[in-house]
Amino acid sequence: MRRIVIVGYGMAGARLADELRRRDQDISITIIGAEPHAAYNRVLLSTVVAGTMTPESTRLHDDRWADEHDIDLRLGQEVLEIDRASRTVTLAEAEPIPYDALVLATGSTPWVPPAEGLVEDGKLASGVVAFRTLDDCAEIEAKAQKGMPVVVLGGGLLGIEAARGLAGRGCLVTVVHPVGHLMERQLDPGAGGVLARTLGQLGIEFRLNALAAKYLPGDGLVLDDGSHVPAELVVVSAGVRAETSLAVKAGLEVDRGIVVDDVLRTNDARIHAIGDCAQHPGTVSGLVQPAWDQAAVLADRLTGANPAARYRGTSVVTRLKARDVDLAALGDVHTDVDCPDSEVLCFQEPSRGRYAKLVLRDDRVAGAIVLGAPDAAATITQLYDRGIPAPTDRLALLLGRALPAEAASPADLPSSAVICRCNTVSKGQIVSAWRAGAETLPQLAEATRATTGCGGCKDAVCGLLDWLGASQPASA
Ligand SMILES: Cc1cc2nc3c(=O)[nH]c(=O)nc-3n(C[C@H](O)[C@H](O)[C@H](O)COP(=O)(O)OP(=O)(O)OC[C@H]3O[C@@H](n4cnc5c(N)ncnc54)[C@H](O)[C@@H]3O)c2cc1C
Repeated sequence: MRRIVIVGYGMAGARLADELRRRDQDISITIIGAEPHAAYNRVLLSTVVAGTMTPESTRLHDDRWADEHDIDLRLGQEVLEIDRASRTVTLAEAEPIPYDALVLATGSTPWVPPAEGLVEDGKLASGVVAFRTLDDCAEIEAKAQKGMPVVVLGGGLLGIEAARGLAGRGCLVTVVHPVGHLMERQLDPGAGGVLARTLGQLGIEFRLNALAAKYLPGDGLVLDDGSHVPAELVVVSAGVRAETSLAVKAGLEVDRGIVVDDVLRTNDARIHAIGDCAQHPGTVSGLVQPAWDQAAVLADRLTGANPAARYRGTSVVTRLKARDVDLAALGDVHTDVDCPDSEVLCFQEPSRGRYAKLVLRDDRVAGAIVLGAPDAAATITQLYDRGIPAPTDRLALLLGRALPAEAASPADLPSSAVICRCNTVSKGQIVSAWRAGAETLPQLAEATRATTGCGGCKDAVCGLLDWLGASQPASA
């Protein structure tokens, strides 16, 4: 029997196990996860910090999952070494585990800025917490009190989500960000400015173009310009680095991540890597959709279900999950208005927190930023996902008044297609929930959480419900 060993029981590892078992009931699957918890939806941790979701409700698998699917699951155990010659992995307190195929799904770890005092004896100093795991959330929840000054280090997507959640809990939040505008990976300066203004009205302060220089426990941070920001708690959300230490030790090719080709294979043909730890030329690292697409391709190949399967990259839509702020960014957002080979439209109304930028090429959406206009965001995302031409009335599209894009049949979507981007719910999960008895929109929302974020996916979920009701699909 073929033995597949997966290192890492996070969003990629858990998904891969599901995809493998769906295709093959007989292969042997072992998963080793360093965290003590069952796999959970990491994307939802911001809602846990905001207090709108419980840790329990973020679980991807229940306690019976491993037994029911005949999976050897080792929780709270770390793989220490890969022996490529004997094809085994070594754990601290167990016999070496042999593999025929090994998959590294070790994710990424938070990057801590090199400010004096943030790290003590190799660990985060007292009063400093990272924002990556369920345990981090528990620590943040335990420490963050109403009226407490808190600094969030990093004004990227996760930093903003953490800041909004903490402000919602009544903390006095300041975001310290080294760049001149927020979320610079996904936003242009105009959108970053409108976002800062909107968040400012919700009580969050910003120190932009600023670096943390020194941490004073219980007192706050000294910034590189010598100014002082009070903080009794510092939440570090300044970026991540791919977790590649096992691969480096094993002599695999590593650059920013573990280097893989279109079949997710490293330079050792028996070892693969997927998710945040992998570096594929077409991948935007650090997001869940590429990890899930990679898991589907790898499962096709490892089980022989589709030996021709290839991973060619993923087009990603980023949504901010922050109460009272609706923001979507997708594709190429940094093209300027005067770019000759693109049509670029921009509209802004900072006083109402609205900003929209649309980049069109060959009449199709190549990129967009939509802030404060959920209807426009939903339509533009559909156009982008499906690659269909944009309506000729561009202004109506930007203002959210264009008719939704002509719906492609739900039957045409792959099972891994993400329908609800706020909660990362795929078509496959909706179909499974429907088959398990969730046949109305509220029941589906309860079972999968689809539609419970911004609500922009409601039409798509209703379309799936109609399709499921009208036909008993043989396979999703
Ligand atoms: C707060 C937050 C919000 C986010 N929001 C979004 C979002 O809106 N959209 C989006 O696309 N992405 C988002 N992300 C990113 C998304 O969560 C990651 O892209 C996704 O989790 C990657 O999955 P992964 O399995 O590769 O890594 P992870 O989920 O990090 O899992 C890796 C697992 O491997 C384990 N591991 C590592 N080394 C070993 C070892 N040697 N032995 C055993 N186990 C090991 C780790 O403990 C971990 O449990 C967010 C992340 C965070 C933290």
